[in-house]
Amino acid sequence: MIPFAGSPLNRASEKRTDPDWIESKRRDLSSLILPLWRLEPFLLEPKTAGAPIELGLLRPGLADALAGTDAPCIFLGLEGDTAVFALDVSAAAAPGNVGPLAGLGYFRDARTAAQTVSIKHAAIIAQAKALIDWHQRHGFCPRCGAPTTMMDAGYRRICPKCNAEHFPRVDPVVIMLATHGDACLVGRGKQFPSGMFSALAGFVEPGETIEEAVRRELMEEASVKVAEVTYYATQPWPFPSSLMIGCFARAESRDAKPDEIEIAEVRWLERRVARELLEGKQVAGLRVPPPIAIAHHLIKTWALADK
Ligand SMILES: [Zn+2]
Repeated sequence: MIPFAGSPLNRASEKRTDPDWIESKRRDLSSLILPLWRLEPFLLEPKTAGAPIELGLLRPGLADALAGTDAPCIFLGLEGDTAVFALDVSAAAAPGNVGPLAGLGYFRDARTAAQTVSIKHAAIIAQAKALIDWHQRHGFCPRCGAPTTMMDAGYRRICPKCNAEHFPRVDPVVIMLATHGDACLVGRGKQFPSGMFSALAGFVEPGETIEEAVRRELMEEASVKVAEVTYYATQPWPFPSSLMIGCFARAESRDAKPDEIEIAEVRWLERRVARELLEGKQVAGLRVPPPIAIAHHLIKTWALADK
């Protein structure tokens, strides 16, 4: 399973438009609430949770005093009959250290937290973080500039002035592993740490298909000409709201050069080298991304294929 995918929740979207049901679940003592402070999810202390670390899903009421008046409380879905919510407690000064949560756990950035908790809890972090982030950045109507109001338990905002509706955004990004014979193409982004190489990636543009975006990005970033493009898998990537669309692309040749704008260096990795890197071995100072990134799974799927 690719981290951030595989949510255990039934999103029960038909319940979002029933404010009485949402309010009763919000107060129901069997419901669970995940506080996020400045986009960092709450994790339980090991002494409370045991190992591995567990996501800080709390009983209703515990964190309410930390949330500001209009702080989003978002219905994430149902696990069985248990309703799960995310609550933005960013208004609190240091809720990990003082107040009702002190001693229970701590807030941690979403990327680190997702690598600490179980795979199903990582998926809950993806949904909660992306939605709260969207509300924090969309308080005003992009059409007329008036303040907007949250609706549908967090899945819509409306503008009371011009009646425009706004929905949580998901930004599609293609991430592709170009292959040629027994080698795959990886690049080192200008901001990457030394030795780190990954699959190339870029935003899908308006009016473009996934296959066209894959071809364009490989040409722009690495001057690689591509024949077939095949879909692999997608991954929610809540930084802030991307959907990573993983693909393989068969290169027509090994001609490649970095654009030197986004990509500093490109190289063809032989399958044998890719396998060693995935096993954590050092090969000529090279590294590939860890399992939290879909790039890791693209490289692994290709490297372990029977060829
Ligand atoms: Zn408006």
